Amino acid sequence: MTTDALDGVLDEAGARLDDAVALRRRLHEHPELGNQLPDTRDAVLEALDGLGLEVTLSTTTSGVVAVLDGAEPGPTVLLRGDMDALPMPEDTGLEFASRVEGAMHACGHDSHVAMLAGTAKLLAARRGALTGRVAFMFQPGEEGHDGAKMMLEDGLLATAAAGAEPVSMAFAVHQSPTIPSGIIATKGSSLMASADTFLVTVRGRGGHASMPHHASDPIPIACEMVGAFQSMVTRRVDVFDPAVVTVARIQAGTTSNVIPETAELYGTVRTVSEKARDAVLADIEQVARGIASAHGATAEISVLRGYPVTVNDVDAAQLALDTAGRLLGRPRAIEMPTPVMGAEDWSYVLQQVPGSMAFLGTRPKGVAPRDTAPNHSNRMVLDEDAMAVGIATYAGVALSWLDAARRT
Ligand SMILES: [Zn+2]
Ligand SMILES: [Zn+2]
Repeated sequence: MTTDALDGVLDEAGARLDDAVALRRRLHEHPELGNQLPDTRDAVLEALDGLGLEVTLSTTTSGVVAVLDGAEPGPTVLLRGDMDALPMPEDTGLEFASRVEGAMHACGHDSHVAMLAGTAKLLAARRGALTGRVAFMFQPGEEGHDGAKMMLEDGLLATAAAGAEPVSMAFAVHQSPTIPSGIIATKGSSLMASADTFLVTVRGRGGHASMPHHASDPIPIACEMVGAFQSMVTRRVDVFDPAVVTVARIQAGTTSNVIPETAELYGTVRTVSEKARDAVLADIEQVARGIASAHGATAEISVLRGYPVTVNDVDAAQLALDTAGRLLGRPRAIEMPTPVMGAEDWSYVLQQVPGSMAFLGTRPKGVAPRDTAPNHSNRMVLDEDAMAVGIATYAGVALSWLDAARRT
């Protein structure tokens, strides 16, 4: 008779749920922003205390790498939970709502920390049967602060594998209230988009609004660019390698009878391949310069490159789906038909190690899809019961990977 590495995992995760909920609520009440999260780090260290993990603190951030060494040597698996909140007010009315003005855990990273700590406890209790090791990455600064990149530069992968085999697989979970509670969803290849910001400054010549021929009005030129960017996307971007270009802010002028000297367009570019990303950023520049020059004006373009495309390794994504299917039943493991256009700094880790990210459905029970407040909403709430599924999936993916490596 063969034993299944996943036997008992869902029950063991369920037994960790109360602890995880308590930790999540504690973090939810005290959200912290950016890369320095001292209270959150303290809570993580407290939760891991006594598990016998090798703990290393990031020197540049509040990140924590905690390593569980199995009874037998083998490959290293990295599991990640991000820790930071968003700079925004909370309007959920929850009894454990944020007590910090202007900060809210609206992306559910509080639940990620709590689930990963629960996973560390679950796997530490199974240490005797573990062939290989599991590195737990608690990461700050996901919300636009390059936290994962900083931890990589800090030596994350070397710390995770110190004295053992290198990290051979990396896995992360992200909760989402737009997916029914307890579902695991992911896909191979591109999972999330790149996110770059652009600023176009159209420079004309100011003048009197009643005599535009004595000026060079940047406003109609800027408006033409907004439309041209959309034609550019539909005519020049492969529909099967899509892009989104959104001008989200237009700024020009001060009053009704003055033609201003400049107009500014500020927006975002999302793509799901690095090829489309480079092409669209170049096209924006060409279109903006061409239109400005056609009207005797100039355009300056500056691009702030943000997170790259999050690319799941095909086999690692399949492992996550198979593991979730075995744990939860096949219908609760869903292969997504398309990527989503949000962005993630987990992408930097996946550029260096094959791995994947999966979404965990957390839509509160009894809430209709159209009434669901998504991530980043001031009213975002999540079904905490789903955290047991998250813990089981984190643990299950690590166990499946190490078990498969042991058999080969
Ligand atoms: Zn977020
Ligand atoms: Zn997030």
